[in-house]
Amino acid sequence: MGSDESGSESSVIVTGAGPTGMTAALALHARGVPVTILEADPQDRERPGSRAIYIHGATLHTLEQNSPGLGKKLADEGIVWPTRRTLWRGKQVFERTYSNPGGSGELPHFTSLPQVWTEDYMLEALEDAGVEVHWDSPVETVESSLDGVRVETEDGDEWEASYLVGADGAGSTVRKQIGAEFDGEESKNSFVIADVEEDPENPRRLERVFHYDHPTVDGRNVLLVPFQGGWRVDIQCKETDDPERLANDDVISNLVATTLGERYRDRVSWVSTYQFLQVTADRFIDDHRRVLLAGEAAHLFAPFGARGMNSGIADADAAASAITVALQSNVDSVRRAEVEQYAALRERSAAWNKDAAGQALEYLQGDSPVTKAKKRLAAAASDHWERAGEWLDDAPYGPHGSPPTSVGQY
Ligand SMILES: Cc1cc2nc3c(=O)[nH]c(=O)nc-3n(C[C@H](O)[C@H](O)[C@H](O)COP(=O)(O)OP(=O)(O)OC[C@H]3O[C@@H](n4cnc5c(N)ncnc54)[C@H](O)[C@@H]3O)c2cc1C
Repeated sequence: MGSDESGSESSVIVTGAGPTGMTAALALHARGVPVTILEADPQDRERPGSRAIYIHGATLHTLEQNSPGLGKKLADEGIVWPTRRTLWRGKQVFERTYSNPGGSGELPHFTSLPQVWTEDYMLEALEDAGVEVHWDSPVETVESSLDGVRVETEDGDEWEASYLVGADGAGSTVRKQIGAEFDGEESKNSFVIADVEEDPENPRRLERVFHYDHPTVDGRNVLLVPFQGGWRVDIQCKETDDPERLANDDVISNLVATTLGERYRDRVSWVSTYQFLQVTADRFIDDHRRVLLAGEAAHLFAPFGARGMNSGIADADAAASAITVALQSNVDSVRRAEVEQYAALRERSAAWNKDAAGQALEYLQGDSPVTKAKKRLAAAASDHWERAGEWLDDAPYGPHGSPPTSVGQY
């Protein structure tokens, strides 16, 4: 059992109060393991944009198990869009409306709400559980040994614990401190993403719409996704585009007006430009099997298929399980094996997610003449053959299915 200078005791330190770190802390608490979070930002921070709006049903179940009521709360606060629709150069090629939200038990197949809301509810759950978050505490150094971990924050505070979960996001200090490195590539084209507030007087129909070669956006692909309170407009830039020009206030207002409707012109609340990294850390644990990387500290995926936050939450749950079992053993080889099992499973899962997101990216951005021809043929056939339109509707998000949930699976 470790402690900080003030003597408070925690078996585990989690770095980062993002969705991954907060889930890790809730999952450890649920298993009876004392845990403390160290977070670099101040408590009154403002997190930008809607970001991870799409929460998979499996994620809702994980959160509900670790913090009863949390999965249900997110499902109640979010929305489920019943309709999915795809257009090819302005002509509809696929539409399907579902009569119920699917899923299992009380939880739907998915829910859609701004990430900042999800984080607020996670924080409330941590407060209810009595888990401490130390704000303004950026971790600067990490030293692991056979017996545990010692970390020092920027202002010189030292902390000791048996295990450390590194959930400190894409620029992770913990990752660098254990000598792990990101491996992978960057997407070719950029994307411009805008959050747009809903018009409460005249809300749009709840539907996820994908436009191939949108005729009034100069032939760019456009994805429109509703979330509670607003819309995400996601525009795929051409290779020749200057994304910053498209993100300029007047230009984005025009793009929003032409894609969502004139009444949304002045409702843009956030704009950003992205090139996506497709990378995984070359290892998820340290030499002494005391530090476990999770979430974006361990991997970054292109966002199609919503694998970012969802996979971070799965990492967090798996890290909490591994640490809990390791803490119960007095045998070093057993403890090490638990952490190694975590790495084996989550590295495979990350590789699966990276491939899946990569397939989506390749489908959307790739130069393959075969894929281009398949898309054109499917669009032409869609009037008579629903499966062709369904393929066009499905393919931008990568393959169906889930990452492996056991080490032998792949
Ligand atoms: C435009 C966009 C759209 C997205 N859409 C989706 C989506 O639909 N679905 C989905 O699943 N995902 C989506 N994502 C990805 C999702 O936002 C991220 O995967 C998610 O935020 C990662 O969570 P995390 O907790 O691992 O990292 P973060 O959210 O980055 O949290 C890391 C935390 O660590 C803290 N920190 C950093 N350094 C230190 C340090 N040295 N010491 C202590 N604390 C530190 C940070 O302040 C932060 O609070 C999207 C992302 C973007 C940008």
